[in-house]
Amino acid sequence: ESLNRGYKTVYYYEDTLYIDVIKRITMEKQLRRAIKLNEMVLYYQPKINLKTMKVDGCEALIRWHHPDGHIIYPNDFIPLAEDIGFIDDIGKWVVKESICQVKRWQEQGHSIRVSLNVSGKEFDDEFIEHIHQNIQNQGVDPSLLEVEITETAALKDLCHSRHLVQTLHDFGIRVSLDDFGTGYSSMTYIKQLKASKLKIDKSFIDDLDNMEQRVVIESMILLGKKLDYYINIEGVETRNQLIILKDLGVDEVQGWLFSKAILPEAFIDYVKDFDENGLSL
Ligand code: C2E
Ligand code: MG
Ligand code: MG
Ligand code: MG
Repeated sequence: ESLNRGYKTVYYYEDTLYIDVIKRITMEKQLRRAIKLNEMVLYYQPKINLKTMKVDGCEALIRWHHPDGHIIYPNDFIPLAEDIGFIDDIGKWVVKESICQVKRWQEQGHSIRVSLNVSGKEFDDEFIEHIHQNIQNQGVDPSLLEVEITETAALKDLCHSRHLVQTLHDFGIRVSLDDFGTGYSSMTYIKQLKASKLKIDKSFIDDLDNMEQRVVIESMILLGKKLDYYINIEGVETRNQLIILKDLGVDEVQGWLFSKAILPEAFIDYVKDFDENGLSL
């Protein structure tokens, strides 16, 4: 009997494995068509400047409006896109779309700063050239753009990343180090990158009542500021976090306390409402 059960277990295991393979192949096919079918959409999450308490731009976050009717979040398709060599197409689309959005907002009389995320696998000279071309074609002010690259990706090839960061800065585009603190990288290396902003990861503010976590986040902010970085903290969800972070001299925050990532029209409404009423809870 036990032998039999063991056999069945193996059978089921292969069965689910088979289903997983089919799912992945289907998703791969759908993903390759997604851009052409206009299924990719950029949502924009407001960034709040803590000195002025004004909305100071936003971060573009990609979502896939899947033909089945649900929304797929980047963590569920970016890794696949990287695996199948489709990330360059996605990256190019993100660059084009976000720069077009800056332009559309500009035409409506809004000057809104947009930061875009770039995957480690697409952060290369070709990507930079693509940004440059789109900025020129659209005639937007490069200082309205920012590029977010994860700390881990940037440090894979420090020397090359440093050159890419420099090139972006020469164009007038700021670079920020995303998910800062999660990569266990040495500050000596990070400093050499010469990025202008640190985006400290949400995980560092999850439990600010915990004294150890409090000391860690305080030290990170202090060190970042001493090294002349502009400090952003993402994932702010509570008023308590906001008060503490403001007190610690953080320059800018993002998080659900303010808003999730939203569509462009909703973003403009949000800015107007925030200007008039401040933080409404
Ligand atoms: P990220 O760049 O670190 O973005 C922050 C993530 O935290 C976003 O998830 C955002 O929606 C979420 N978030 C913001 N505020 C809060 C909060 O208060 N609480 C919680 N729990 N979460 C919050 P999202 O949009 O699912 O993106 C996940 C990751 O996918 C991003 O992390 C980024 O690395 C990547 N990604 C997003 N858009 C793109 C893109 O256009 N291209 C590439 N290559 N990667 C992207
Ligand atoms: Mg980001
Ligand atoms: Mg490439
Ligand atoms: Mg992040």
